[in-house]
Formats: sequence, structure tokens, C-alpha cells
Amino acid sequence: MKIHHLRNATALLHVGEHCLLIDPMLAEPDTLPGFKLFGRGRRANPLVPLPPNAFTAMERATGVVVTHEHPDHLDASGIEWIKARGLPVWTNGVDAPGLRSKGLDVHELCDGALGMRVELIPGRHGRGWLGWMMGPTVGYYLAHPGEPSVYITGDTVLTSAVMDAVTRLRPEVIIAPAGAANVGVGGDILFSVAELVTLAERAPRLVVLNHLEALDHCPTTRSGLGERMAAEGLAARVHIPEDGEETTIERRDTDPHVLPGPHTQRGPGFQKWLTAHVNRRIAGATSAADSRG
Ligand SMILES: [Zn+2]
Repeated sequence: MKIHHLRNATALLHVGEHCLLIDPMLAEPDTLPGFKLFGRGRRANPLVPLPPNAFTAMERATGVVVTHEHPDHLDASGIEWIKARGLPVWTNGVDAPGLRSKGLDVHELCDGALGMRVELIPGRHGRGWLGWMMGPTVGYYLAHPGEPSVYITGDTVLTSAVMDAVTRLRPEVIIAPAGAANVGVGGDILFSVAELVTLAERAPRLVVLNHLEALDHCPTTRSGLGERMAAEGLAARVHIPEDGEETTIERRDTDPHVLPGPHTQRGPGFQKWLTAHVNRRIAGATSAADSRG
């Protein structure tokens, strides 16, 4: 398996015969609205460009995987890029209808898809009312024969469902968002640094941390996070890739992959409908405010 980290949550995952483009936010710097909605520090996003070789590397993609429908995981540039190549988009049942309505060739990522054992693990994109308003998110456990199993947590805080998945599925690689994102009210909407320490302590082998230094509402730095993990004695279990860095991970376990549990995700409901509507309104309002000043 090779993880070619591009920027934020965008990466190429080379697994078996596939090259999967994960969560493509492909916008040029300063062309998306700020996500810090309250308090100081709001700036246009993304803060940094994609690495120079990103678009060349992306031509190898055989499909796209989307964790959830937020613009830092799939933006208008990403949609345009996918459509121009006619690539299949693999996602969950909650986000599938919204992505289809954007004209994408959408397939549900379920057990057996792409020749992999798959489980969808619910996430929680913040706590309390804020987490609810951020909308439903899921993570994906992907186990390809002959490759390390990987759990892409998607945007979430540390929940019992996440910890249960780590304990039960024993993913050899966990890819987790580490920016400790905060919109300025209501607490962090991604793993806090303390939660990342817990995740790394419980991880069977390796945690790859992304969603860093690319967006205005993600204050955690790679260097600060690396120092904290080293201080906790976890440096060997954690990898924090630079944008453009490629990481190869060989299968080490000789045991068969842990089989996924039953699939329990519901279809899109009231939460998805309402939060998609509110997120669109916020994005529109912040775009207008950013263009004014
Ligand atoms: Zn995100």
C-alpha cells in the first residue's frame, strides 16, 4: 500500500490494483470561504497550494472515495476534475444521493466493493448540537487481500464507535484528521490532540495524521503534534506526512484481515437534509463576506 498525501484530507491511496483519490479538495489557494465562522483568524481557504506533482500523480486514479460532502473533502474543482475523467465515485448511502445530484457516477462503498472487505463506521463531527449540525459522517475500513487493512476515520471526534472499530477490526493503518478544527464556537469538531494520543496508544500499528496546516480553522501544526507524540513515546506509531509525501506500508500481519461487522448505516434523513441546507447557506454567506473584505 502506498499513501501519497497531497493536502488536507486529499490523498492517493494505492491499494492492490486500485489508485483511489480520497476526498479531493482541489481548489487553488484563497478561493474557498473561511471555515472559522466566529472569533478571529478567519481567512480564505485553502491556505496552501497542492504540491507541484499532484495533478500528474492524480492521472493514475482509478476511482474516487468521498468520506462526506463538506467542501474541504470535495469541492467544485474536485467535482469538475472527476467529471472530466468519468471516474467512479465511491461513497456511503447518506452522501450518495447528494453526489449523484451533482452529476457524478456514484457507487455505494459496501462490503465486497473493489474486491475489498469494507465496513462503514459512523463518525461524529463535533460534540453536542454542533456535531449534529455538522451533519452525519462515516469512516471506512478497507481490507484488500495482501495489503495492510486501513481505517480512514473521516472527520470525527473520538467516540466509542471509533474506539470499538479500532479494537475490533485491528486496522494496520489508521488515517485520521488531526487539525483539531474549530469554527470558533462549540468545541473542536475533529479529534483533539489528547484524543489523537489515545487513538495512537490504542492503534495496532500505525496512525497517519492529515487535515493539517491547510485550512483557517485547523490550528494544530505538524511540528507541535510531532513533539507531543514524541513526548508521549508514540513517535514510532505516528506518521505526519508533508504535502506531496509518499509513504509505502507493507503488510506485516500474517493473520487474515478481521472481517467487517454488519452494515448498519441508514439512508439520508432529516439531519442530512437540514445540515446540507444550512452548510450551503453558511458557505454562501461567508463567500459574500470574504469578497467584501
Ligand atoms: Zn474536514
